[in-house]
Amino acid sequence: MGHVAQMLELAKLFITRNHQVSITVLIMKLPDYIDAVSGPFVDSVIDSSSSERLRFFELPPVDPTPEWSSKTRGHFVNRLVQTQKSQIREFLISQRGGVKLVGFVVDMLCTPLMDVADEFGIPSYVFFTSPAAFLGLMLHFQFLEDECNEDVKNCDGSTTLLSFPSYAYPVPPNILPMVLVDRDTWLGRFIDFARGYRKAKGIIINTFAELEIYALDAYNNNNISRSEQGPLPSIYPIGPILNQSKSQSESEEAEITNWLDEQPPNSVVLLCFGSQGSLPTDQVKQIAIALDNIGCRFLWSLRSPPQSNNAQFPGEYTSYSEILPEGFLNRTEKKGKVVGWVPQLKVLSHEAIGGFVSHCGWNSVLESLWYGVPIATWPLHSEQQVNAFQLVKEIGVAVEITLDYCERNKDQPIVTAKAIENGISKLMETNSAVKHEAKIMKEKSRASVTEGGSSYLAFSKLINELLKNAAV
Ligand code: UDP
Repeated sequence: MGHVAQMLELAKLFITRNHQVSITVLIMKLPDYIDAVSGPFVDSVIDSSSSERLRFFELPPVDPTPEWSSKTRGHFVNRLVQTQKSQIREFLISQRGGVKLVGFVVDMLCTPLMDVADEFGIPSYVFFTSPAAFLGLMLHFQFLEDECNEDVKNCDGSTTLLSFPSYAYPVPPNILPMVLVDRDTWLGRFIDFARGYRKAKGIIINTFAELEIYALDAYNNNNISRSEQGPLPSIYPIGPILNQSKSQSESEEAEITNWLDEQPPNSVVLLCFGSQGSLPTDQVKQIAIALDNIGCRFLWSLRSPPQSNNAQFPGEYTSYSEILPEGFLNRTEKKGKVVGWVPQLKVLSHEAIGGFVSHCGWNSVLESLWYGVPIATWPLHSEQQVNAFQLVKEIGVAVEITLDYCERNKDQPIVTAKAIENGISKLMETNSAVKHEAKIMKEKSRASVTEGGSSYLAFSKLINELLKNAAV
């Protein structure tokens, strides 16, 4: 969701900001048995947003083989992307003789598709929905791998802090994302994505200059890695782009927002772990114990781990009492609410929310800061551990519950109720430093996208570049 929803918002932004541009969004869907949320979401966006200048083209469905589901969600998605090359080729052939195609924008995990755009002489742009610091880390690891012949896996297992060009502070090796250190499952794919980034004409990134000063300076000053492949592509920090579309029915949303309406301002902590987040039962119990002990108000998005398939996304529990400690729901009835999927942006906008226990997916971070809500960090997968580190150590808008939790770590220790209590108590303190910093970042994020702001200007530059392609 953090990729598809923001890509659709990017498309809308293009047509709002320039009357000459029109967009066709190519849609490839995950089957419902893998992800029950994103397919219906995309259908509703198509229904509500299609126009003369914003068209959608659904690529023909393909039949996944059992191998696709044999490893991880990322593996499944990658297989799906690879199979779309010929369909996209067909689509581009069908467009010949029509409007001039000035750019082919690919999601950061879809760079294999850039080859097809190349065949047609269309410049490719990557839409990067993670922080600039992580973009720098990916490019750095790819540089080490391809040009220094260094096995980046050596970083793992080391105890010395590591310096990377895009992070202001040395990084503890135990928080390096598995996608960059696990050679068997992820590394090859991520190195390949990074190779694609270097070949792009530009990188459109969902961040803003005031949030990631250090990483963007490192990128623009070409300090990321002095590759023999020449300078890095232009970067366009145009965020925050927020997911404004509905992903639930009115009545599902109302159940949550009506409850929030009854809570005092800044009193509720939101716990939500993203579109792919679920936790094992014993970990869920520790969170429940912590919430019981602290006594603070909470809204907890609790979703069930995939049941039958390595590539599946989490789903909804049929009954929360099966998994929560006995009596928890009764004891906390007056101060807390346990739900499944939440309308996250709407929830964060509510004045009752005072803090966010988050997996630190980048979209969730941007959404939280847009409303000035401080974060307590609990990363799960992807690049979230380094995001959490950056938020706590460098940006100062988050307190730590954990920085190194990794759902794919077989030996992952349980985060204790005590650690969770400490983190949430710090998060909800009135007048804390993180609350203050989050309020400052709220103002900066809004200023960045208003006329004359850094992201506004970066977007103008991007459109000018695209229109120059029309002249070629
Ligand atoms: N989201 C939501 N409700 C949920 C979980 C997630 O609306 O219950 C949205 C959230 O607002 C964000 C996206 O899904 O826009 C998640 O993106 P993020 O990058 O934070 O994490 P990911 O899901 O990619 O791990």
